[in-house]
Amino acid sequence: MTIKENVKRILSNVDAAKAASSYSNQSVSVVAVTKSVDANLAREVFENGVSHLAENRTELFLEKYEALKDLEITWHLIGNLQRRKVKQVINYVDYFHALDSLKLAQEINKRAEHTIKCFIELNISGEESKHGFSVNELMEILPEFSELENIEIVGLMTMAPFDATESECNDIFGRMKKLQVEISEMNLSRIPCTELSMGMSRDYEIAIKNGATFVRIGTEFFKNL
Ligand SMILES: *Cc1c(COP(=O)(O)O)cnc(C)c1O
Repeated sequence: MTIKENVKRILSNVDAAKAASSYSNQSVSVVAVTKSVDANLAREVFENGVSHLAENRTELFLEKYEALKDLEITWHLIGNLQRRKVKQVINYVDYFHALDSLKLAQEINKRAEHTIKCFIELNISGEESKHGFSVNELMEILPEFSELENIEIVGLMTMAPFDATESECNDIFGRMKKLQVEISEMNLSRIPCTELSMGMSRDYEIAIKNGATFVRIGTEFFKNL
């Protein structure tokens, strides 16, 4: 397999899942997660037509950002971010996917020099080990995100449990879609909440059928090279 073939397979699976989705005119951005590969392989993914790249850790993000500066990449930071590291990284980020506390949002708001598009992370499956808000926690503090003028809450993000079955994934992703629509219809300032970041290598097709608009795919891009 080459990267080119992997890209082609993934994009055609994405199209098929869109066609099978309950939602019409769904736009899906494919985000390539490059945390397990070097900058040269990341460059190859870009050259084969995927312009959204993601890293999950500050140090690796900055390394890739620097190495690939000559490309017009839309950069995503998808992992848990410590407050003390916000300053180092946030102004290079187009989309941040792991907003998991109001305090973190306040720190981002303070350090940002442009509007940072953020996804609020939900721990909708209730796993102990996971970051993210429960639905109740989120609904209680949601209006406070409206106050932060350098942050736009573009949508919600989640990860299904590693061992979730297809029907469990459908349940989790379906609940995310409902919640996203509910929040969007509240028309809160700076919280359009029109997007859903969900689906990884093992479940992106299920996520798309449930309304995902950003899928974060790593392993599938780089397997069998
Ligand atoms: C690593 C990672 C992914 C991609 O996972 P794959 O299973 O390799 O596709 C997606 N989202 C987050 C938050 C990650 O850390």
